[in-house]
Amino acid sequence: TTAVALSGVTKVYGRGDNAVLALDGVDLDVRAGEFVCLVGASGCGKSTLLNLVAGLDQVTSGAVQLTGDSLDGPAVRPGFMFQEPALFPWLTVAANIEVPLKLRGLARADRRAQVAELLETVHLTGFGRHRPHELSGGMRQRVALARTLALDTPVLLMDEPFGALDAMTRDLLHDELERIWSQRRLTVLFVTHNVREAARLADRIVLLSSRPGRIIHDTRVDVPRPRR
Ligand code: ADP
Ligand code: ADP
Repeated sequence: TTAVALSGVTKVYGRGDNAVLALDGVDLDVRAGEFVCLVGASGCGKSTLLNLVAGLDQVTSGAVQLTGDSLDGPAVRPGFMFQEPALFPWLTVAANIEVPLKLRGLARADRRAQVAELLETVHLTGFGRHRPHELSGGMRQRVALARTLALDTPVLLMDEPFGALDAMTRDLLHDELERIWSQRRLTVLFVTHNVREAARLADRIVLLSSRPGRIIHDTRVDVPRPRR
């Protein structure tokens, strides 16, 4: 079943002499449960594509569907992670993770239980009372991941989420993300310009080229790893 579908998506920024054709007629069908990495040189339209799927920006023409399961189903709200964790600095780690739970209208006892579970999921049990500035970059990004998971969405959109981290921390987070993706049966669209990172994570790699942004390769990767 299809979780995310782009058909004939074109995005033009600006107008007249300043117009930039960032994406030119992009078709992409992402199946539920797929881990897709979008790769390509800087400026090829990776972030643009992700922002359009997220609904953070509008297509110039074409259509984006995001249903998480079947295209007949209702639209889902995806989780989005950026290179910066964008935590609320004045809130504790637990309170940051609790924000989506409040938005979802969960009762206090349920929120507490879920925060504890999410902290465990990202291996941060015991850090709930800390503030973001007391944590390392990798830990902050794990808090951001927990907060995104608290949305309980089937689709994760990630724009170079580990790009600012050192290689060792990134390796650890790759392992964690892979485990969480598998356990929660998530559909992931992951932007990176790091081909090694894509090879490590993806079961499908989509390569974009720039001027104009188009898909020039779309390859399934057979990754030897425990499957669901
Ligand atoms: P990345 O390569 O990680 O996508 P960029 O530096 O290309 O980062 O873009 C960072 C932000 O700046 C994005 O939100 C993007 O939409 C915006 N941006 C990129 N290029 C331009 C531009 N020419 N004019 C205005 N905004 C831009
Ligand atoms: P990538 O994420 O692959 O680095 P982007 O999606 O950020 O690429 O950018 C694709 C193209 O669109 C680039 O030429 C970039 O400069 C341009 N662009 C991105 N955002 C904007 C914007 N807000 N305004 C104008 N041009 C933009």
